[in-house]
Amino acid sequence: RKGINRLSSGSKAFDELMGGGLESQSIIEFFGEFGSGKTQICFQLAVNATRPVEEGGLNGDVFIIDTENTFRPERIVQMAVALDLDPEEVLKKIHVARAFNSHHQMLLVEKANELAHEMNVKLLIVDSLTAHFRAEYVGRGSLAERQQNLNKHMHDLLRFADLHNAVIAVTNQVSSKPDAFFGDPTRPIGGHIVGHAATYRLYLRKSKGGKRIARLIDSPNLPEAEAVITVSEEGVRD
Ligand code: ADP
Ligand code: MG
Repeated sequence: RKGINRLSSGSKAFDELMGGGLESQSIIEFFGEFGSGKTQICFQLAVNATRPVEEGGLNGDVFIIDTENTFRPERIVQMAVALDLDPEEVLKKIHVARAFNSHHQMLLVEKANELAHEMNVKLLIVDSLTAHFRAEYVGRGSLAERQQNLNKHMHDLLRFADLHNAVIAVTNQVSSKPDAFFGDPTRPIGGHIVGHAATYRLYLRKSKGGKRIARLIDSPNLPEAEAVITVSEEGVRD
């Protein structure tokens, strides 16, 4: 495809797993248990996206839709300092919006679309993609509506990716206890709706000593494989 940009994760091994970085015009889904490192990876991607293309960045602005109130500017500062960047300059390029419910979350993508025409948004993060949907649509009777809205949300995100040649990174928590609908604990919520719309799916799990294992599950062009990454104060590295 034409004009694809590639965003570095901070880890060479992970970038290689992804065929040379995270592709623009695509949705990359990170799923894993609480504490597996999904949000930390999002922070690192946000910092990296502000960097020049020669440094593995996208030379762009970043939108973060934060649904769980887990955005921490001080983590952005730590990661920026570790790369010898001016933290204030980096923070200026990262625009964060809290989403209070799934409806608001969907509206924020529309809003981002409007704003992106005036800004140079090259990365859009939704962390977490599914938490509000999971909390709001409870009971078997609401499953169809949940899936329908999630489906629309994913398509809005894909459209954003295409329109702005942006990378879309979303997170999805898998619970360690069985869900009412999805008995299998390793299955991310949203099931095939999210799975089909995401271009790349990565399963994250904790390993020893701050290490995380990222497994590429679904990709249109790459084999299923794993990479080991480290999450430390400096951020994401090999
Ligand atoms: P989730 O997958 O639930 O979003 P997070 O991305 O929030 O998980 O990961 C939390 C983990 O990240 C912590 O348990 C810790 O291992 C690591 N972490 C967070 N902040 C720091 C830090 N300042 N220094 C080192 N590791 C950190
Ligand atoms: Mg998180």
